[in-house]
Amino acid sequence: MREEELIYKGIHGIPVILEPGNAARVDRSSWRLVRPVYNKDKCIMCKICYTYCPDSAITWTKEGPVINLTSCKGCMICVEECPTDAMSEEKEAS
Ligand code: SF4
Ligand code: SF4
Repeated sequence: MREEELIYKGIHGIPVILEPGNAARVDRSSWRLVRPVYNKDKCIMCKICYTYCPDSAITWTKEGPVINLTSCKGCMICVEECPTDAMSEEKEAS
């Protein structure tokens, strides 16, 4: 079934997750007004950003977190939760 075929309370085209676990493959780059920027010098490798990102947009590597800006929707949870300000917010170019 496709999203536009779904009807809820008379409304067509309800966004649904048709395939669980597909978050990492969805392109959200056009959703963002701001983007997270990583500063390795301030990072204590706590993995909080990696754990809290709701869209699997952060991959964990030996060098620390790597942000996938195709998957990132700009929610700034990683910026809010980072205990050392190693993640900061930057406006998207308009
Ligand atoms: S801004 Fe949101 S979606 Fe993007 S990397 Fe941070 S927590 Fe994940
Ligand atoms: S939350 Fe901040 S300090 Fe912790 S791993 Fe992520 S960037 Fe580094």
